[in-house]
Amino acid sequence: MRDVRHEPRRVFIETWGCQMNELDSQRMVGQLMQQGVLPTKDPKEADLILLNSCSVREKAVHKVYSRLGEYRLLRKERAELLIGLCGCVAQQEGEAALERVPDLDFVLGPGRVGELAQVVARRRAGERVVATGFPPERAYDIDAVARQGEYKGMVTIIEGCNKSCTFCIVPQTRGPESSRPLADVLREVRHLLDYGFAEIELLGQTVNHWREPGGEADFADLLDAVATLPGLQRLRFVTSYPRDFTPRMVEQIGRHANICPYLHLPVQSGSDPVLRRMGRGYSRAQYVDLVAQLRRARPDLALSTDLIVGFPGETEEDFEQTLELVRQARFAATYAFKYSPRPGTAAPRLDGAVPAEVADERLQRLFALQEGIQHEINQGLVGQELEVIVTGWGKQPGMQTGRTSCHRVVHFHAGSEPAALGSTMHVEVEAGFPYSLAGRRLGASAAGSPGSP
Ligand code: SAM
Repeated sequence: MRDVRHEPRRVFIETWGCQMNELDSQRMVGQLMQQGVLPTKDPKEADLILLNSCSVREKAVHKVYSRLGEYRLLRKERAELLIGLCGCVAQQEGEAALERVPDLDFVLGPGRVGELAQVVARRRAGERVVATGFPPERAYDIDAVARQGEYKGMVTIIEGCNKSCTFCIVPQTRGPESSRPLADVLREVRHLLDYGFAEIELLGQTVNHWREPGGEADFADLLDAVATLPGLQRLRFVTSYPRDFTPRMVEQIGRHANICPYLHLPVQSGSDPVLRRMGRGYSRAQYVDLVAQLRRARPDLALSTDLIVGFPGETEEDFEQTLELVRQARFAATYAFKYSPRPGTAAPRLDGAVPAEVADERLQRLFALQEGIQHEINQGLVGQELEVIVTGWGKQPGMQTGRTSCHRVVHFHAGSEPAALGSTMHVEVEAGFPYSLAGRRLGASAAGSPGSP
């Protein structure tokens, strides 16, 4: 029998997946830090290891068990090491994870992140805990978040998902939708602005489906209320669901200069029959019309999207429709994935499985098309002066990196006086590559000025 009473001093956390998982990891580390457990970047130094997993695509479960196996080997050096499985695979597997890995210490789903400190305490008292499911009241302490990075603070405004896209496991792993009250959101954003973040990112699986619990206000009202908070330089939000956009939301995006001219708007496919089988609830024409409305409101808008290729029944003609949409929409970035069947979803029961090699070949054609488009768009920015928030150091010595308000990465020479991380600079773009820009540093902006394109 392992002795599990040891009090952890160092936590190592590995995070897979989306921004919501990133924020969940910050919340888990924050709770532990309040108890004197400090983070480490080296798993060998840790006496508590958390694997914050993602289950959007296949092999996730397999990958989780193989990583847990690697971590268990560290017990040869450190017998007291506690290991917890967190995130969406934790929710999906639950009790089965404890059965499959006899010395796994606990399982903590995304709906129970706020209970990590108690779960560790229960484990130290001898219980192997499975904390999954979605309690109606979820603990969320804004003081117990180990904020990372110099410039961007993330705020969850809506948890879970009520959509029923036939390919997606998220409604099972993150539970039903639950919006946070506006007053809580504003309090957390003010807290982050006081802390010094220049940029706020609002998070939700369907972020624009936010509604005031028991009230009338919707995401348009929330955008207005957040964007007008003093000192907010850049406001982003992710992920928007096309069908949930309203004209009032589009209007707010046009009205507030500090709402970034960048939007992630997953379309998934350019073919109506495929969109119908995916259960997305919009047509290609409706998506294209929404993009036109958004671009009228913000002509400088950079759009990114998610695409799935090889969805059951996708014909060559359907796929051509996707390519055509990509040519037409000129996305600044696309995140394209091969369809992967997920347990408990409806799509695996659909006819017309697409052979893996066909899906692979389609994905490569899509990547090649999009890379060319991105290269052209980025080359078109050469000569422009852009405002960037300095986000880090480049791989080459003497280089720094920043992000434009359109979310593009810019590399520039630090010069003799490197810019502080989180500060705002102007750069003149000198070269455009498919995935980044290179620029010449011009000078610092006045603090608090709104982002330029
Ligand atoms: N809630 C967002 C929405 O529906 O637009 C995104 C949710 S998901 C975390 C992020 C992306 O993963 C999706 O937009 C989709 O492109 C991709 N994805 C989800 N399930 C998938 C599956 N079964 N196979 C391949 N890609 C998938």
